[in-house]
Order: sequence, then structure tokens, then C-alpha cells
Amino acid sequence: MTEKLYDQDAYLHEFTAVVESCETVKNGFAAELDRTAFFPEGGGQAADTGWIGNARVLDVQETNGRILHRIDRALPVGETVSCALDFEQRRRRMQNHSGEHIFSGTVHRLYGLNNVGFHMGEDCMTVDFDGELSAEELRLAEDEANAAVRENLPIRCFFPKPEELETLSYRSKKELEGAVRLVEIPGVDLCACCAPHVRRTGEVMLVKLLTAERHRGGVRLTLLCGLDALADYRRRQAESSAVSHLLSVPKEQIAAAVKKQLEIQTQQKERVAALSLALVQSMADAFSETAGNIVCFDALLDEIALRELANRLMTKCRIAAVFSGSDSEGWRYIIGSRSVDLHAAAKAINAGIGGRGGGSPAMIQGRAGAKTETIRGFMEKYTDLDAHNENV
Ligand SMILES: [Zn+2]
Repeated sequence: MTEKLYDQDAYLHEFTAVVESCETVKNGFAAELDRTAFFPEGGGQAADTGWIGNARVLDVQETNGRILHRIDRALPVGETVSCALDFEQRRRRMQNHSGEHIFSGTVHRLYGLNNVGFHMGEDCMTVDFDGELSAEELRLAEDEANAAVRENLPIRCFFPKPEELETLSYRSKKELEGAVRLVEIPGVDLCACCAPHVRRTGEVMLVKLLTAERHRGGVRLTLLCGLDALADYRRRQAESSAVSHLLSVPKEQIAAAVKKQLEIQTQQKERVAALSLALVQSMADAFSETAGNIVCFDALLDEIALRELANRLMTKCRIAAVFSGSDSEGWRYIIGSRSVDLHAAAKAINAGIGGRGGGSPAMIQGRAGAKTETIRGFMEKYTDLDAHNENV
């Protein structure tokens, strides 16, 4: 059975070991060592990565008492190899995991709630408790957890004898089999856990609660600790600095400034809508009534204004065709008529203006790719006689 070096020393990250077996598996190779400092996935914590010899360690799993290192190339069985953990990653995970124990132990002590779910993700940790917690209660728990960090208490991982275990009151997420490993933080927490932890609470640096939401009758929290919390702080600082810069207000006032900008935006939208309507009215007024077609181009009108213009022009002619856009970007069109069946004519019209689109007998809309003069030339002369002839 592989000797678990990570149980003895959580900081050991370079060691030598003998390759006891190496077999081909679906996605690479799986090797067993006589001893390992690679922590296999467990207790909510992901597997360590690193190197065994010149093989990259991609995953480590413990199944049926065997610790299998999934690696990207085969290793010579029987040989002694140098091994190295990706220790920066491990340190961050230990900071987070120890911080989670401090926080969960504190919530248990203050409010009697149990941690019933724990997951250490790429971005943050998720912790579930079996009861609700108010914002005030969460704030107090966060303060108390950080007080425990400040006190720099020792963190002890140990395997108590069965008779000793019976006398201890400890947190545990599930019924445990075999030797129970406990993680003790004096006055803060005693919890069954198989994962490596930092030596002292001070190494956790900071316990930061990020979010809280109701979850299955309890609450689901996201947390960050240690260097990950610092990195998160830096990201947030960069974001708020950027917003503060863009809005030219101090960082402390960005929420109020964004709210004001949104109010201005709403006012501007209303103003643009009113101006568009006025523009549409004067554009429509510029055309006199005709028995033929009216064709009109504009670069600025939005969908609503374009429709308004088509509606107004339809009353003055046979076919009203309005286009918004440009020759280089292409045109959006709305074409309306009170006398011509545009649904039937759509195919011929689209062919004439390099367009795509359709609609009802009274109105069709779509996009046109032809240039202004081609469109104008076609639409001004267009009659539906061809379409009729085809249909007859
Ligand atoms: Zn744990």
C-alpha cells in the first residue's frame, strides 16, 4: 500500500519514490508509487498535479486503497524517480480548505449549523449549511473567522485512537470508514477531513465571504481565502478603478454614478424617440400625394421610426418603400401599400433590390444589398402587373 506522505507533511513537495506499477489507461497511463506526496481528489479538494520523473501528473485518484497517478507517459517499473508537486496550486488549495474549516467551525459554534456540502472550484469554494443565515449573522461569522486567522492558531491533523475518538465531538459530513483523521484548530474547530492543511491559521491570510443564496432549506455560500482572496481583491480593484476612470468619479461613488448614467440613458432614449417621430413627420410632409410610388432613404432611422415613416407615406401613394442604412453597410427596408398585394410581390421586389425578406399583403420588411440608385430606379418604376400576370 502506498505510503501517504501528504498525511505526515503537507508541505513536502519534492520527494523520490519507486514506481511499483504502470499501466495503460484510456487517457494516458496510471502509475502507483511506493510512497506519494500527491494528494488524491477527496474531501471536496481536487487532486494535486506536478511531475513524476519526466511524466506530467494530470490526476490522482484513490480507489480500493490504491493511489493511482494518471500521467501522460509511461514510467519504468522498479526504478526510483524524482517527483515534484505543483506546490503553488497546493498552497492555494490548503489556504482555501483550512479557511473553510475555520469558517464552518465558526458557523457551527455560533449558530449550530452544519456544513452539508463543500466543493472547491476553480474560481471559489462553495459551502452549504443546513439552515438560513442573515446578512448580519454572516458578517459576524466572517469577523470571527478572521479573528481566528489573526490569532495564528496551530492546525493539527491527527489520527486519534478509536477509544479517544469516541470521547471527541467533531464535525463530519458523512459516516466514516477506517481510521478517522481529524483536523483540530483549538477553540475554533474539530472536523474529520482527509486533506492537507496549512500549519497555522495565519497562513490563511483572509477568509472572505463572496455570496450567499438560499439553497435546499439552507444557505449556499461562496468563499475565498489566502492568495486567491488577494487575487480576487486585485481583480475587483482593477474593475472598480476602470469604472471610476471612465465615469471620472472617486471609486467610492461608482454605483451612484452608474445609476445616474442609466437615468440619463433612459431620458436620452425618450428624447431620441420624440425627435425621431418629429423627423419622420417632416420627412413624410416633404412628399406630396402621388399615384405612383414613393422611395425614401435615410441613414439614422431605427426600426420603429422606419415603420412610422412607411405608415405615413403609404397614405400618399401606391407603394411606399423606405430604406435605412447605407450603400456600404446595406439597407433595412420596410415597404407598405394599401392597394398592392406585397406578399405576392415580395419575390419580384427582392429580386430587384438584391434583398431578402417578406411579410403581409400590406407590408413587407427585410434587407437589401443593392446600391441606392439601383434600388431607387427599381422601386420608383415598380408596378405589380408582372406579379399579377404571373399569378393569372
Ligand atoms: Zn476538510
